[in-house]
Amino acid sequence: MTDLPDKTTAFMDWYLAVVEAANLTDKRYPVKGLNVWTAYGFRARRNLDAVLVREIEATGSEAVEFPALIPATEFAKEKEHIKGFDAEVYWVTKGGLSDLDVPLVLRPTSETAMYPVFALWIRSHRDLPLNVYQIVNSFRYETKTTRPFVRVREIHFFEEHTCQANEAHATERVRSNLGAFRKMADAFALPYLAIRRPDWDKFPGAFYTVALDSPLGGARTLQLGSIHHYRENFSRPYAIQYEAADGSQQFVHQTTFGLSERLLGAIVAVHGDAKGAVFSSAIAPYQVVVIPILGSDVGEAPLRVAEDVAARLRRHGYRAHLDAGDDRPGAKFYRWEQAGVPLRLEVGRREAEARSATSVDRLGTKGRVALDRLEGEVADRLAEFDRALRARADAAFAASFSVARSLAELAGSTRVRIVAWCGSEACGHQIESGIDGALLGTPEDALPIDPGAPGPCIGCGGTESTRWALAGQPL
Ligand SMILES: [Zn+2]
Repeated sequence: MTDLPDKTTAFMDWYLAVVEAANLTDKRYPVKGLNVWTAYGFRARRNLDAVLVREIEATGSEAVEFPALIPATEFAKEKEHIKGFDAEVYWVTKGGLSDLDVPLVLRPTSETAMYPVFALWIRSHRDLPLNVYQIVNSFRYETKTTRPFVRVREIHFFEEHTCQANEAHATERVRSNLGAFRKMADAFALPYLAIRRPDWDKFPGAFYTVALDSPLGGARTLQLGSIHHYRENFSRPYAIQYEAADGSQQFVHQTTFGLSERLLGAIVAVHGDAKGAVFSSAIAPYQVVVIPILGSDVGEAPLRVAEDVAARLRRHGYRAHLDAGDDRPGAKFYRWEQAGVPLRLEVGRREAEARSATSVDRLGTKGRVALDRLEGEVADRLAEFDRALRARADAAFAASFSVARSLAELAGSTRVRIVAWCGSEACGHQIESGIDGALLGTPEDALPIDPGAPGPCIGCGGTESTRWALAGQPL
């Protein structure tokens, strides 16, 4: 048992230590950036995916799956897109001993795999909208230092691709995705901001990009995912057309929505603390761990009661784990706290006699659960825990932002900064060098603090079309 590094002063060391201590991944695989999912980490990922599937399907999206290999000829059709991904793709150039006639790209994202097929699927306005998603592994040759979940080369990727009849419908789909993401983030108790990226930082080939960013302490931010409006930028090169009601041929307008295991990284980074990981009940690999307090003088009763408690909770759909191993209770408490389990139930001799369990949630709130009301009381404890976790994250979120009134004020920022910006790229780059990070863009919704009306642009002093923007240091 060793203490974790300090989250505030040694954030990345702390993050890596928490991922390790919670046993979410095994970092010893011989290729950097390719993740080995442990059984415990895989449970978290599966729970995360279940939330994404539930919320995206509630908006009428259907699951599909496309091949992982894309012919170079299709990959090359949209010029901005290939320019954006050229340096990041893995190539498959051989089949056995022979060179392939057409080299294949291992998908970095699936536009160029899907869109030639969409062109075959869509014929008439009756085929629209087309809203489909897949959850697949995609690959990008990341050249910066890889980090578990947040910067990887094999990405566990959720990608929704849609085709709409016109620009307004595509804009509406972006709004719908934002609504779905709000519900996903609520399940993870994650505060975030939807931010429209500046033009120079949008997805390659997009008309615009809305990113979903969470602050991670200091000026650090993590992009959790992104939603893109493509207009006709892909439908023209891929000839995705439909016959409108008036008989004319029209190109579809497209959108995409991308998420990944970065969400898991964000959950660890935002909720984790000096004791380790913390998971909301929706994603927790185990929601409840049941620990019998055994000793030479207590007999079998606590173990029998603990077994019964775990079995009853599982029958009622909870992810409950019985830890009846030989370790001392203190070592078990420590281990499951590090692993982020929301609720611990302890059953000792006194509890067994009183038909109860002592409950301790991951934020330290203690109570007693009567076994004849076990399922209802556990539901209440988990709901209370989720609310407290969200409140703690919201307080940290609100404290993560402050206004910078000049470029000079950006130096050494210990918050994500809110700045007045005229919208020009030149001023944007000045802001970026001021904070030694990125101009994240303009918020889609209200800012987390109310800074009043924006003054003159902190780059050029201009007042024309000045708006609030956010600047930070993306991880
Ligand atoms: Zn300016």
